[in-house]
Amino acid sequence: MAGLFREKKIPAKANLAGKFRVTLARDMCKACGFCINICPTNVFVWSKQVNVMGWFPVEIVDENECVGCMLCFQICPDFCLNVEPREAAQPAAAVA
Ligand code: SF4
Ligand code: SF4
Repeated sequence: MAGLFREKKIPAKANLAGKFRVTLARDMCKACGFCINICPTNVFVWSKQVNVMGWFPVEIVDENECVGCMLCFQICPDFCLNVEPREAAQPAAAVA
């Protein structure tokens, strides 16, 4: 498939492993597949369990693969996903 959707996933670089937290609102997912297709790595898989809406949603299989690109966050039409850095940003040094 052309464009942003990827048939071939790329493993995340080791230095990014574990840097991002991916949160999924499983019961809001309507299984459109946008996130699983646009994610450049192997963070998502299809679930074998239905959610409350009767869909087989995506699930997060390997959060360590997340590179923080935010594409899933931006493309999900139902606002099911959030991605944030695991380490809080350091506050800027106070100016004396
Ligand atoms: S931000 Fe989303 S699309 Fe990007 S690597 Fe992480 S899980 Fe995949
Ligand atoms: S883009 Fe959103 S609604 Fe679509 S499969 Fe992913 S989490 Fe579910």
